[in-house]
Amino acid sequence: MNRTETYGAPRLGIYVHIPFCLSKCAYCDFNSAVEEDRGVMTNYVNAVIAHMESYRSAAGDYDVDTVFFGGGTPTALPPDELLRLIRAVKRIFHVAKDAEFTVEANPATVSYATLSRMRRLGVNRLSMGLQSPHENELKALGRIHTRADFVRSFRMARDARFDNINVDLMFGIPYQTRESLAHTLRYVTRLGPEHISLYDLKIEPGTPFYANYAAIAPTLPGEDAEAEMYFDSIRTLAEAGYPQYEISNFARRGYACRHNLRYWNCDEYLGFGVSAHSYFSGHRFSIIPDVKQYIEGATVKESRIMLTAENEEIGERERIGEYVMLRLRLRAGIDEYEFRSRFGLSFEELYGERCLRFVRGGFMTRRRGVTALTPTGMFVSNTILSDLLEFEDLGRYNFGG
Ligand code: SF4
Repeated sequence: MNRTETYGAPRLGIYVHIPFCLSKCAYCDFNSAVEEDRGVMTNYVNAVIAHMESYRSAAGDYDVDTVFFGGGTPTALPPDELLRLIRAVKRIFHVAKDAEFTVEANPATVSYATLSRMRRLGVNRLSMGLQSPHENELKALGRIHTRADFVRSFRMARDARFDNINVDLMFGIPYQTRESLAHTLRYVTRLGPEHISLYDLKIEPGTPFYANYAAIAPTLPGEDAEAEMYFDSIRTLAEAGYPQYEISNFARRGYACRHNLRYWNCDEYLGFGVSAHSYFSGHRFSIIPDVKQYIEGATVKESRIMLTAENEEIGERERIGEYVMLRLRLRAGIDEYEFRSRFGLSFEELYGERCLRFVRGGFMTRRRGVTALTPTGMFVSNTILSDLLEFEDLGRYNFGG
């Protein structure tokens, strides 16, 4: 029997971060930059492969059932380097035959030839950043592609036999109105991707939007309009066959992103490349953000130590807090029976009282043993989750760690 067909092997996700983009969008605070030196990209790919090799034996007992190349823009790599990295993942880890293998792509950076080769190598899901089909909104965001680029890339991906495509959209962006967003959703749902992500624009420190906030602010829709946009979108997408399954994610039946579900279900994953995060063997750890240091550190004997930025052992108390925080992002919420079988504790006893005012305020529902956020609760989820996760009330329990 093939190794990937065995039953009972623990499951693992692999994330690979590519920190290169063709240009920097005005709102972006991800660890990515424009890189014109192809040699740096080649060295970076070598470093990621060496980094993955250093986990070959630790991950040897696992079946990898999700792989996600994100960034940055993975398709900003020269095609041969991207394909080399895809092959390396499959060579180093036991990638299951039915694994979900996603690569993020910017519409201005893909060709039919590369898409076909990726597909033949086992990449079966594409995540394309459109953000908006309106040229004025795209321009304000500093995106380098046009709507026509996106449509061309989308059709190319279909021709290359990608039958699982995500389209990233944004709301709360400059010049956007409820009407223009409604048009965006009609436009995209007619194209018919399997999955749609819809993110709220956040103005983050260190971005051009943050530096020029005074100039940007009058073009933004404002918080009340944003709330309406969010609720409109949940309704519109559900009517178009894309029910919401997470705060920012909507999918046709059977097409929820398995890799991202892994994060929200607190399952294990290993992250490679700068700034990547992992949850593995009871530890959460992250990788240093600097590309040059990463390239230098990945090939030395003590590479794991050199590359690690933070490493924290997750005790039972933190595991419970993380579970609550992440599971409440999902529309399915927390099944209190499952909570008890996972932690041996009662969700009601731990959180019942604290949930009361959110239920009364219309932010949360607690029905038939399931606790979940309502759309209003999802819109203000940061506030609700941070309130729920204060631990002082949990001190009377013995968490054993
Ligand atoms: S393409 Fe994505 S990662 Fe790159 S700058 Fe734009 S938003 Fe950031």
